[in-house]
Amino acid sequence: MIVRITSKFGEVSSIHKTPHTGIDIVLSEGTPLRSVYDGVIEKVYDGSTNIGKGIKIRFEDGTEGIYGHLSEVKVKVGEMVRDGQIVGLSGNTGRSTGEHLHFALQRHGEFVDPSSIVDKTVNYSWINHFFQNGKVGQIDFFSIPEWIKGKFTEATIGNTVDFISDMALALPIITVVSLSVYALLNMVSSRVAKLGALGTVVYSLIIIH
Ligand SMILES: [Zn+2]
Repeated sequence: MIVRITSKFGEVSSIHKTPHTGIDIVLSEGTPLRSVYDGVIEKVYDGSTNIGKGIKIRFEDGTEGIYGHLSEVKVKVGEMVRDGQIVGLSGNTGRSTGEHLHFALQRHGEFVDPSSIVDKTVNYSWINHFFQNGKVGQIDFFSIPEWIKGKFTEATIGNTVDFISDMALALPIITVVSLSVYALLNMVSSRVAKLGALGTVVYSLIIIH
């Protein structure tokens, strides 16, 4: 889902008289909203304030995400949530002029621009999750193209180098073991020997992969 932003971070308009503390994205009521990282539910807004029904999540790296104008909250204060877990449904509660999500991010109590991660509130990508795993604590708020480029380089170089070095180490061993298996079984039958050697290669490749 491509998210459509109707009000950017820091924007001043007729609706936002003071600089906007978050980002507004258009979402039809009832759209499932996800935690953008692993974290703990710090606060649940009951709907009595401007933000309407909402949630504040403290993420692993200490930043806090605020979700506002929900139709339904699916979590409780103190609950642990995982990256991508559904925490509520979008709506139009509180001081809101249409169905949308207000998403804000605080670091050390100050609002920061959440545009690089706002789409994660509605899109869950296991690939992103995989590449970010263990790195939540060091996330910087890059712009989206830089972020994608960074992830791409990291993933391509990292995986290729690992794969080649694994293969370089493993291939001589696989060859020796397969030849030994072949030689041993050849004493019984040459057909069994070929199957045995082939089986050893396949098995080894499956293991190192
Ligand atoms: Zn807003």
